[in-house]
Amino acid sequence: MVTDLVQTSYASESAPAGDNEDRFRAGENWALVLDGAGRYPGRTGGCVHPVTWIVEHLADHLAYKLTVHDRETLPYILAAAIRATMADHGPTCDLSDPLSPGAAVAILRTRGDLVEWLVLADCAVVVEDAAGKHTVVIDDRVDHLPDAPVVDAEVRTYDPDYVATVRNRPGGFWVASTVPEAAGEALMGQAPLTEIRQALLCSDGVTRLVERHGWTWQAMFAVANDEGPQALIDEVRRADGDHPRVRHWRGKIHDDATAALCRFTGPEG
Ligand SMILES: [Zn+2]
Repeated sequence: MVTDLVQTSYASESAPAGDNEDRFRAGENWALVLDGAGRYPGRTGGCVHPVTWIVEHLADHLAYKLTVHDRETLPYILAAAIRATMADHGPTCDLSDPLSPGAAVAILRTRGDLVEWLVLADCAVVVEDAAGKHTVVIDDRVDHLPDAPVVDAEVRTYDPDYVATVRNRPGGFWVASTVPEAAGEALMGQAPLTEIRQALLCSDGVTRLVERHGWTWQAMFAVANDEGPQALIDEVRRADGDHPRVRHWRGKIHDDATAALCRFTGPEG
């Protein structure tokens, strides 16, 4: 049996003065990052549970299935983890509510001589090949919804009534909450293990260094390797602090931030 195909180091930190709704888990051949997709203003989403409860249950179910059901496809595993989390809610929650809280997902694993990844909603997987070229997997469907009405509040966002019509619906956007079919809509990819050097899994609290603050993925990998993933989060906090107080698009001033650096030792170790 091959062990430690993926060596993962990670850091995760809540936004200042908040509960961390990101989660990280890793096994010998996989790693995952979740980012809680919380409630819309004034809406319960039909659920009595805090978002931390939802990401914790989803992370545990994913970790178990990635370990035990390792011959299944990533969408199969994610759909099964969504179903298991739905069962955990119990009768207190209305799982048919289209605004049910859930999570964004990034999973990476090795299977045989392949590296595979899956991304759903606001998490990212970035894979660096042996030549230093980056494959960036970001699911930005929520930013390209047709004719979406925008609500101008402290954070510019969508009207919840509109979101209810496009969330976990074909032509809309998908998130891991109470619709197992969302797993089949995730962004997927794979590459030969021998061609991949390393990968980063990030919640959008970290990818904002690239998307908002002008960093390159090359610089992200360099900092993660030289100083560790916590240094990326420190850089996010510094960059957010330096940023003019603009009203962010769908983003808070600060956000929970998680970064995981995966290095591949290869079948020969
Ligand atoms: Zn619930």
